[in-house]
Amino acid sequence: MRGFRRWRWAVAALSVVALLGVACGDDATDTGDGGDTAQEDFPADSTMAKIVEKGEIVIGVKFDVPPFGFENPQSGEVEGFDVDLGTAIADRLGVKPKFIEAISDNRIPFLQDGTVDLILSTMTITTDRDADIDFSNPYFIAHGRTAVYEGSDVAGPEDLGQGTRTCTALGSTYETTIIPKVAPDTKIEAVDAYSDCVELLQNGAVDAEITDNIILAGQKAQDDKISLVGDDLTTDPYGIGIPDGETDMQEFVNSVLDEMFGNGEWETIYDKWVGSVTGEEPEIPADWGSLEDALKNYPCVERCDG
Ligand code: GLU
Repeated sequence: MRGFRRWRWAVAALSVVALLGVACGDDATDTGDGGDTAQEDFPADSTMAKIVEKGEIVIGVKFDVPPFGFENPQSGEVEGFDVDLGTAIADRLGVKPKFIEAISDNRIPFLQDGTVDLILSTMTITTDRDADIDFSNPYFIAHGRTAVYEGSDVAGPEDLGQGTRTCTALGSTYETTIIPKVAPDTKIEAVDAYSDCVELLQNGAVDAEITDNIILAGQKAQDDKISLVGDDLTTDPYGIGIPDGETDMQEFVNSVLDEMFGNGEWETIYDKWVGSVTGEEPEIPADWGSLEDALKNYPCVERCDG
């Protein structure tokens, strides 16, 4: 696997150098603040040139999901792993990123109606979603888990029977597919934002929350009366959402990801946002190969699609 990873990175590094040589010229390593555009370096009718023309890229992220996308109450700025990745893409384009809130339920509509240029919002690659939008290659691996509040006897989804209530986000894979499979008798409380699940857990209005482990770990970091219980339920590859048919943007975003896996930038933002919360070593999505491999190989594809 390691050899495979090195090979992929070597190829990635070469292809990034080639692509940036064509696309960005001397601006290739510029990590500027958007003042230095690369407009003339992208083909005139490309998606990237249109974004450069606008001077900003609009990216939908979560605003209440530490450590992926959350509004820092002190600074009012949105921060997190997804935000840093979006900023890196904006830097490579030479434009400013504009982050707007995208909850689970409006991520795909936002891409379809042009509200956003990209979605970086803890979104799992599934074949159902891939029919409506395009995805980058996987950039993060999450696993479904169950969380409960202090004093709960629930040790996993098998304890969520008749009369129990389980919180998750509207429009998530957990609402549509996973909870009905792993806890068919529980009543799903589908909320707009994951922070609503925290309140419902704290008030005792639900017995459990089921979603990605990293979302639950971020909630536990805010309130240590929350515990993660039971086994991993899924393997969820996160992908960057791209409007359907924007193949040039998909290739560009994949080249940025390849570069970030190759030069250690991905691991730096992993350590900053995720490792510091979980204490765990990263699973490197590059090992999982391409989007096609992800769609074929991830257990989530069997569990996350309807
Ligand atoms: N990764 C899952 C999904 O995309 C759950 C997290 C979320 O709702 O953002 O549905």
